[in-house]
Amino acid sequence: MAFHTNDLARGDEHLVALRALKERYPYMFIAPNIGHDFYRGWLADFIIACDDIDRLLGDNKRGFHFRQVKEKLGWARYYWRTEKVKPLRLSLFMNGGVLERQHGLESADDVENQISQVLLNAENSSRQKCIVCSEPAESRSFGGWLVCTCERHSPSLIARDDLLHASLLREAAK
Ligand SMILES: [Zn+2]
Repeated sequence: MAFHTNDLARGDEHLVALRALKERYPYMFIAPNIGHDFYRGWLADFIIACDDIDRLLGDNKRGFHFRQVKEKLGWARYYWRTEKVKPLRLSLFMNGGVLERQHGLESADDVENQISQVLLNAENSSRQKCIVCSEPAESRSFGGWLVCTCERHSPSLIARDDLLHASLLREAAK
């Protein structure tokens, strides 16, 4: 692989790993999508999940792609589709907690159910890992803002904008 001397990803191992992932499985990241936000602390688990999904799909990729990747309420969300299955996610706010529901898997087969589980596992893992550095963490509320960070990256020490800047992987503008 050739690197340009002005390549901003040079030396940024997370960005390099993310680019390699997109080159390995371009079908997962095609348009149309409604946005892919990747976070440093959760990237390793996401890459493992994508490797698992590619293996589960085998030769027939079924139109699988990520509709949206983002952080919501302090943990990762990986919204996906195939040609046949279009899961719908709902977050229900109840008694001060959040109940997460997934619909639209009624017609899913074994492969699609396993994909669903792989991504739910990756999401659950993000609830216990710092969004910046992957160290053990738990989701806490800071003035109503739910965020999952270790002590070192606590919003009580770092301003919100700086925290987002430190955790979100941004590609250089073309
Ligand atoms: Zn951290």
